[in-house]
Amino acid sequence: KRRTVIAANWKMNMSLETAGSLITQLADTTYSNTVVVCPPYPYLYPVKLLLNQSTSNIQLGGQNVHEEDKGAHTGDISAEMLKDVGCEHVIIGHSERRMIGETDELVNNKVVKALEKKLTPIICIGETAEQYDQGLTKEVVSSQIQTALTGVTDLSDIVIAYEPVWAIGTGKSATAEQAQDIHEYIRSTIEKSHGVLADEVPILYGGSVKAKNAEEFSKMKDIDGVLVGGASLNAEEFKSIIQAFA
Ligand code: 13P
Repeated sequence: KRRTVIAANWKMNMSLETAGSLITQLADTTYSNTVVVCPPYPYLYPVKLLLNQSTSNIQLGGQNVHEEDKGAHTGDISAEMLKDVGCEHVIIGHSERRMIGETDELVNNKVVKALEKKLTPIICIGETAEQYDQGLTKEVVSSQIQTALTGVTDLSDIVIAYEPVWAIGTGKSATAEQAQDIHEYIRSTIEKSHGVLADEVPILYGGSVKAKNAEEFSKMKDIDGVLVGGASLNAEEFKSIIQAFA
């Protein structure tokens, strides 16, 4: 049985104070599944300190990483820095970054670097509204995932998130059946290149996941968790999403 992962992508939201209170509320319990929170960079370490003080098993993730080890890259963050402040995961290739110029090749380089530094990449893929309208969804996601996994042989520390761009922040999520169909297709694409290893890769759905629709997604056999934006900023709502997959 694949592991279930519930991940919170805070994006560019929260403050030191609201981050602290959200984490305090979330960390009052231990979870049966892998729960990952991905705050903005300045809040990673303060959040880590709060998690260390708690008995919770919430894990920490970055929202992006640079593909090189170190050097003259103003404004960027390395995989080792993320590890240093306590991250175990990192989101790579989010559509909001692809939109400002991240290519499939860059995503691949970042994935390779994250794995080299023992960070679990949460690799985001998904079609735009325009590609969806043109019936290109499967073509787009299979090419994104093939390139992202180029040169990667061990899939035991990989998480994939299918996030249709038209569903992100729009309140218009994919239906559970639509998502299941694409998840199954993504898994079969990975199977072509990596064989049975494809079976162990958690594939998360992302895009307007809320407390009220999480359970639908949890019932699907190839949906192994969710990557949550807006609804992860509220403790009660995020907890009920976690609960839907427990
Ligand atoms: P929303 O849950 O706000 O639609 O965002 C989804 C997302 O992009 C998570 O990475």
